Amino acid sequence: MRDFSRDHRWLSINTATLRGAGTLDTIIEACVRHGIRAISPWRDQVHAIGLERTTELVRGLTLELSGYCRGGMFPALDPAGRRAALDDNRRAVDEAKQLEATCLVLVVGGLPGALGGTPQSKDLFAARADVRDGIAATLEYARSVGMPLAIEPLHPMYCADRACVNTLAQALDLCDELDRSAGGALGVVVDAYHVWWDPLLKSQIERAGDKRLLAFHICDWLVPTTDLLTDRGMMGDGVIDLPLMRSWMEDAGYRGFHEVEILSSNNWWRRDPDEVLTTCRVRHQTAC
Ligand code: ZN
Repeated sequence: MRDFSRDHRWLSINTATLRGAGTLDTIIEACVRHGIRAISPWRDQVHAIGLERTTELVRGLTLELSGYCRGGMFPALDPAGRRAALDDNRRAVDEAKQLEATCLVLVVGGLPGALGGTPQSKDLFAARADVRDGIAATLEYARSVGMPLAIEPLHPMYCADRACVNTLAQALDLCDELDRSAGGALGVVVDAYHVWWDPLLKSQIERAGDKRLLAFHICDWLVPTTDLLTDRGMMGDGVIDLPLMRSWMEDAGYRGFHEVEILSSNNWWRRDPDEVLTTCRVRHQTAC
């Protein structure tokens, strides 16, 4: 396994981790101050300061993007809704390309309307069909411009509102169906928070192999967890065996970034960004 005990070159910060710190330019400055060489920004944060400004910052500071968050949200009630989702994903691919991201992360969506609090359907099969068709269409475009797509299975508690792809096996089935060549155009994100509980995790990471393993997101599962979305823990503060999971990733050939993604409204988002980043660096060396 790679020795990270004195090496943070492969540490990346998902900028949602510093949502409390202000706009993306402030967050990027903080990351650079801490010698971090890769980030994964969210589209809303990029749009808030502008794509051109973000590109300028990323290029000027020679930052890498371990991913771009995010495309997806494919299911809709009618053809117009599905078309709008495809258009938006095409724009997300273009933005990821301009920023030279490693991949565009796909959070595929759940039941139409559910994210806004008013689900308009109970048809999970239809939602999953929209997801398959949406990825197929987006893949065709993404492949033409050379931007890999990475399906992120989310914990089943998000099945209704955020993603009806909930296990690595399910995500890899989609990859195998839609991208038979398995040359790296379509793969998966392994986010420890979403998949740590899965009894098939080790075998599915092996199945994915280096061509399909496009990103590795880390944080920890707190006991108790008090909020479904924004109570993620710092690495080492919860019950996920991150070194074990990392060993599986590396055995399967993964050599990319470790992207820290901590959504934490009552703890880390309230702290000084320098404290958050110092802790990320230390825990990346000691708890991963
Ligand atoms: Zn993630």
